[in-house]
Amino acid sequence: MGKSSKDKRDVYYRLAKEEGWRARSAFKLLQLDEEFNFLQGVQRAVDLCAAPGSWSQVLSKRLSENHKQTPEEPEPKIVAVDLQAMAPLDGVIQLQGDITKKSTAEKIISYFDGGMADIVICDGAPDVTGLHDMDEYIQAQLLLAALNITTHVLRPGGTFVAKIFRGKDITLLYSQLKIFFPTVTCSKPRSSRNSSIEAFIVCQNYQPPADYTPTMANPLLDLQYDAMNELTGPNRTIVPFIACGDLNGYDADRTYPLTSSYKALDPLQPPITAPYKTAMELKRNNFYNK
Ligand code: SAM
Repeated sequence: MGKSSKDKRDVYYRLAKEEGWRARSAFKLLQLDEEFNFLQGVQRAVDLCAAPGSWSQVLSKRLSENHKQTPEEPEPKIVAVDLQAMAPLDGVIQLQGDITKKSTAEKIISYFDGGMADIVICDGAPDVTGLHDMDEYIQAQLLLAALNITTHVLRPGGTFVAKIFRGKDITLLYSQLKIFFPTVTCSKPRSSRNSSIEAFIVCQNYQPPADYTPTMANPLLDLQYDAMNELTGPNRTIVPFIACGDLNGYDADRTYPLTSSYKALDPLQPPITAPYKTAMELKRNNFYNK
């Protein structure tokens, strides 16, 4: 991707650099919070799939503002997890690991010392293959891994916010989320590209079923995706859909025009270990031409 490519001229991409956010994703969380106000009063948070860290930056900023209003409360606690290494961030405990692994989930839980989080957020996305069914399935698995961790660390009444792919089987996920949260809303922030099937679920007022005991097993997606299993009747859950972000603000697909006055900006925080490093090494050693 060249410095003048369409993606790099994207309005939110550039605005993120100007405002000091590590990624344009920051605006998605900010716009969701503008609509739902879920960061109000939060003291303890978990950010799953956090790299390069713009959602953690938003959390860090908001939680320290909250702490200034209630200095008698304990210091804010933010635990951020990702497969990729992440550059340090003030006030954020970082953990490198796979959220679908039991060991990672256990580490996250251990940071809370038996205490509970007010919110768990997850912007996780697998490397998309372009095979839509496969991508949606993997995204759903990631969401269920996040939900699993959430059931261990979230306090009753707490909030879970996560990225979803709004594919054909999405009502199955809604049904599963409704088991734990009476209020589930699907929301598309203004900064999320119109061309993307991504949206975010905002699940409020965590209330696990009576006698529910969190387990590290993943029993939630135990359903075959075929026509025989299509959810109908009361099993088909439809949740409200809300667009958020200033409707007069920038459109997510808007880019800067490529004129002679256009000047590219360097990344605010280059990746510590770029995911494409191995591929570049192989290319340098002429591996692909052998
Ligand atoms: N919210 C982040 C921000 O604002 O900077 C951006 C997150 S990025 C869109 C998606 C992240 O999900 C990637 O950094 C990727 O490494 C992470 N991810 C994907 N699968 C994961 C897994 N199984 N465990 C942990 N992280 C994962």
